[in-house]
Amino acid sequence: MRQKWIIEEVEKVFGELDSHLNSTAKESGLNCPDFCGHCCRKTDIEASPIEFLPLAAWLYQNNKVNDFLVKLDNPEHKWCACFDPDASAKGEWGCKYYEHRGLICRLFGFGFRLNRDNMPVLVTCKIMKSTRSEAVAKAGVIAARQPDEMPIFSHYFMQLLAIDPDLAVPQMPINEAIRIAIEKLYFYNLDKEES
Ligand code: SF4
Ligand code: SF4
Repeated sequence: MRQKWIIEEVEKVFGELDSHLNSTAKESGLNCPDFCGHCCRKTDIEASPIEFLPLAAWLYQNNKVNDFLVKLDNPEHKWCACFDPDASAKGEWGCKYYEHRGLICRLFGFGFRLNRDNMPVLVTCKIMKSTRSEAVAKAGVIAARQPDEMPIFSHYFMQLLAIDPDLAVPQMPINEAIRIAIEKLYFYNLDKEES
């Protein structure tokens, strides 16, 4: 079943990326201050639908689609529909579906781009730069020492592209990407019964 295959492939890419980021974070000390969640407060986050197929599949499997669509349709909620803006005050991070977050979300903390000389350059958020300056410097040293071992944004994006370009190329507001992912899996449960 193609949809099931796509979801499993996307989850594999996310698994590889997470372990790659975790090992770099461990080595460098790059980690987010507790319950920051500032990145999820942005109202202009863009993503592609393929990134949210695992979330959509989970929502269908757990009969949560209708509840989620209510959040998605709430005009007063100006953030990503997965985000709880009161989380920080409650001592929580904010993403209600953290395990199923998108590629862009996994890279909020840090990642690397390649410069003209094909060397990895750290890309990280303002909060990481201001609160983890030593780790930021250390990550730069590690990247110079072992350039082939750093998590490069474009490598992971290319992997999603190879799985399904139609769903990976279009970049759009994150809630729109989630909505399309949900629509794409409209027959997901039916497919599972048939497989
Ligand atoms: S999916 Fe989760 S991590 Fe990504 S923007 Fe939304 S709340 Fe933040
Ligand atoms: S990625 Fe940056 S903004 Fe987001 S939680 Fe981590 S430190 Fe905060």
